[in-house]
Amino acid sequence: MKESAVVFALVGNPNTGKTSLFNALTGLRQKVGNYAGVTVERKTGYFRAGSGQKIELIDLPGTYSLVARSPDEHILVDVLLGKREDTATPDGVLLVVDASNLERNLYLGSQVLELGIPVVIALNMVDVARDRGLDIDEKKLSELTGARVVACSARKGEGIAALRAAMESAVEKRSEVGLGHLPAYPQAFLEAAAQLEMICRHNDHRPANLICAEARLWLLREQFSGIEDPVSTQAKLWQQRLDAEEPGWRSRLIIQRYKAIGEWMQASVHHTTNGYPGRSQAVDRILLHPVWGMIILGVFMVTLFYSIFSLAETPMEWIDLGIGVASGVLSEALPEGAIRGLVVDGVLAGVGAVVIFLPQILLLFFFIGLFESTGYMARAAFLLDRLMGKVGLHGRSFIPLLSSYACAVPGIMATRTIDSARDRMVTILIAPFMTCSARLPVYLMVIGLLIPTTVSHAALLKAGLLFGLYVMGAIAAFGCAYLIRKTLLRGRDSSMILELPPYRLPGLTHVVREMWQRAWQFLQRAGTIIFVFSLVLWFLLHFPAPPEDATESPLQYSFAGRAGQAVEPIFSPWDTIGASI
Ligand code: GDP
Repeated sequence: MKESAVVFALVGNPNTGKTSLFNALTGLRQKVGNYAGVTVERKTGYFRAGSGQKIELIDLPGTYSLVARSPDEHILVDVLLGKREDTATPDGVLLVVDASNLERNLYLGSQVLELGIPVVIALNMVDVARDRGLDIDEKKLSELTGARVVACSARKGEGIAALRAAMESAVEKRSEVGLGHLPAYPQAFLEAAAQLEMICRHNDHRPANLICAEARLWLLREQFSGIEDPVSTQAKLWQQRLDAEEPGWRSRLIIQRYKAIGEWMQASVHHTTNGYPGRSQAVDRILLHPVWGMIILGVFMVTLFYSIFSLAETPMEWIDLGIGVASGVLSEALPEGAIRGLVVDGVLAGVGAVVIFLPQILLLFFFIGLFESTGYMARAAFLLDRLMGKVGLHGRSFIPLLSSYACAVPGIMATRTIDSARDRMVTILIAPFMTCSARLPVYLMVIGLLIPTTVSHAALLKAGLLFGLYVMGAIAAFGCAYLIRKTLLRGRDSSMILELPPYRLPGLTHVVREMWQRAWQFLQRAGTIIFVFSLVLWFLLHFPAPPEDATESPLQYSFAGRAGQAVEPIFSPWDTIGASI
């Protein structure tokens, strides 16, 4: 029989140290996958509490509120409400808050407390809070919120054992859990919620508290998916009535939440000194400066771009050499024929095509990790947001697009740092327009053919043409982004919340671990696809075999060769044009 595990969902604002805490709690006992039907990452891990009880932790996307807007947030809410068939209903929530930024973090916290399931609040980054002269009374906060509160520092490994114990005991004593502190919902809201609850309850065997919480969240929802179902139709109708009867009800609820949080803060947070000297603000005065900030960003980007190009070159050559040696050895060892062709030109070439990108991917993710972990990424996004916003892109699209100049594969992978699915998709779609380094030799060859050295100022013309090709790629990319945002992926801009976290020293183990995880995913995912396609391509290029008395090259007889001949009439006029230039 499978051992029963207690399941906890890991919830928190972005950048609160969720990933670090997840790693500190579960170590290497982790599994990464995707939620069915969407591209949201699904990460779970487990550990054993003091009594030996297995506790499973589900990492969820970072969010500021449970009123879901993006697909990532919908997944999060569905998991919390026990609505996803591929994920166990959580027995409790581990809420990670940034202790140095408590007030804003507790907004999400107050919504989570309303779920009526055991909540453990991890007051993370307590080291930073202490540095800033904040002293948080865990006991008092626990009394006020009804949750267990544990101060910890994922970075320093402080408080991890206490967190494990609190999680276990919270679930053991789950009967003591109340509904947290509900804001004073207007009467009309509560009536509507009760009605919705009845509809949700139909054929549903989830615990009553979750269905009740779901009904309230439906009423608060700001965006509905296109699919019409009885609950969403009804929720929209009730919202319209509420808007008419109680204008401003949404903002009043938000104000009330903050008022309650203000009271919690007043009673449990004490300022010991005026500790925080605003170092981050001082640094920001330079790094966010319209001129200096841009120059420094430019220097960082050139460094990143240059490293991906140059540092990766040697290891890429080694990989290439290694593959060459391996194929030489295998060619010797295997008898001539289809098997040798398959192993050497199919499998080995396929593996080589994947592994060769690894140095670039490792480097790119090392830099991205460094930027994220120091807090600089948000500044870069902030600086570029206005510029990128002109074509409907997010500031965070910049690094993936820049990286695509080196290679579109890591560029597309880097779009993971963009929170909104819509912005991520536009960036993925346009990234291949950027001129990747593999195109450079082709460009140089074509330019060499078009401009003979006998022409005056040949070098200058060539350089100009090359530059023009790069610019054309960028224009095509941004033009398409604009068109896509105006047509296929319309919708409101997601750059509404751009948080600037304080600067921190980078956690190197964290950066390296993330880098390896991404590289491994690349090998698994892109690897399988590129590998399979290499095999298919090999097959198309080598079959059917030429007849015994073949006069032309074997390629002419293959499927791919024949397909090429079939489309030749379309392209042959270009030969004539090319020849006449
Ligand atoms: P997430 O976005 O919520 O998953 O946050 P991460 O785990 O990626 O952490 C963001 C940054 O905060 C990283 O640079 C971490 O090293 C750092 N960090 C996480 N926990 C702590 C902590 O307790 N103290 C300090 N000083 N830094 C932390």
